[in-house]
Amino acid sequence: MKSIQKPIVIVGAGFAGMTFALNLKNLNPSLPILVVDSATNFIFKPLMYEVLSKEIRSWEATPKFANIFSDAGITFLRNCLTKISFKENILEFSDDLKLSYQYLVICTGSIPNSFLIKGVDENCYFFNDFHDLNKLNSFLKKTLQETESHKKLFIVGGGPSGIELACKIEDIFTDQFEINVIEKSNEILNKNKIFNREQAEKAIEKRKINVLLNSTVKQVSETKISISSEVGITSLDKDIVIWTAGVKPNLSYLETGEITKKLGRILVNNNLQIENHKNCFAIGDISVIEGMEDLPITAQVAMQEGKHLANNLELLIQGKDPLPFEFEDNGEMISLGIGEASISGLGFTLSGKLAFEARRLIYASKLPDITESLKSASSWIFQKKSIFKKFLKKDNSN
Ligand SMILES: Cc1cc2nc3c(=O)[nH]c(=O)nc-3n(C[C@H](O)[C@H](O)[C@H](O)COP(=O)(O)OP(=O)(O)OC[C@H]3O[C@@H](n4cnc5c(N)ncnc54)[C@H](O)[C@@H]3O)c2cc1C
Repeated sequence: MKSIQKPIVIVGAGFAGMTFALNLKNLNPSLPILVVDSATNFIFKPLMYEVLSKEIRSWEATPKFANIFSDAGITFLRNCLTKISFKENILEFSDDLKLSYQYLVICTGSIPNSFLIKGVDENCYFFNDFHDLNKLNSFLKKTLQETESHKKLFIVGGGPSGIELACKIEDIFTDQFEINVIEKSNEILNKNKIFNREQAEKAIEKRKINVLLNSTVKQVSETKISISSEVGITSLDKDIVIWTAGVKPNLSYLETGEITKKLGRILVNNNLQIENHKNCFAIGDISVIEGMEDLPITAQVAMQEGKHLANNLELLIQGKDPLPFEFEDNGEMISLGIGEASISGLGFTLSGKLAFEARRLIYASKLPDITESLKSASSWIFQKKSIFKKFLKKDNSN
């Protein structure tokens, strides 16, 4: 057994960091664990659509880190990482604080990727965190007060975020917007399960949302959006453009060339260790595992990595060899408008209202420790528990 004098420091307490910290504490309660995050609240990102539609209240999807970690007996510090000195094992933060670590886990998530397309950063709305959500919400609310209807709304990206957002906005603001989804490939949800894609296509058709396939955005100005398609470049009037076309890792604290990257993300081996820095690990959206480059950038992957790394670190501390990470596909869920969703995987497919309730319950059961604070504060997650016992049972066995 190795002795631990300095703390195990986790930077970023999202799905990956939170799962890692809580699991490690459970495995070895005596370890000194310090969690640092620049935010005060955890964001349950898959439920941001329900916050927009007011199906749940914002505080229900954003429990406070301080509460979660003090309940678990883990020290939490609010601060923003600005630099890592890998050789000296020292972290630097925005208020000039310096911290040394014995083991470091970085998991700072992702931010929207505008792919350097002209005008996107300045003229588009995003939907990646609560700041984006509040900004979008204010714009949409302001629009509600205006008399003119059928404002032109474009959503760029026909992946889950774009489709879930399009259906939700149409259900909230019936006929207020003409909604157009722009997708560069030849189908929406092209990386998702066929069942969910089919359900999404039906949901989109039912809501009369336009989908422009094989189309890419060239430029966005204050009043126009330029789209390239097989008919050439078209410039269209727009009232709002929401950009959901991709994300990139949030790595502003890394110096260029400091560590090996692949696909722009930190390259880790299958033990989730950073090359040449065996006491440092990167998990969640910021990293890519050598040989597993096709893994989706999702909370499901981030949480599995967090859990696996907790087991591995405990093995390392005991002087044993770590085990390689293996991904287990537990299925996929998408919301499709108010009160509707689609689920594929976990051995079944389900759509409509039942899927909507099951989705919320499955999310809650995935995060038992985090949702203690949600459970005590809200009723929606557990009110239908008896109906969904079979889903919970199936889900918990994963
Ligand atoms: C709207 C939306 C819906 C989604 N829906 C789904 C879904 O249905 N299913 C699914 O599996 N995935 C979904 N995802 C993707 C999923 O949310 C991400 O893959 C997941 O959050 C990644 O986890 P993470 O721990 O890597 O990063 P995050 O959960 O983003 O956490 C990163 C943390 O790092 C902190 N941080 C960042 N920089 C610093 C710094 N310099 N110093 C200190 N702290 C820092 C942040 O404050 C944050 O708390 C969705 C994403 C979005 C945006």
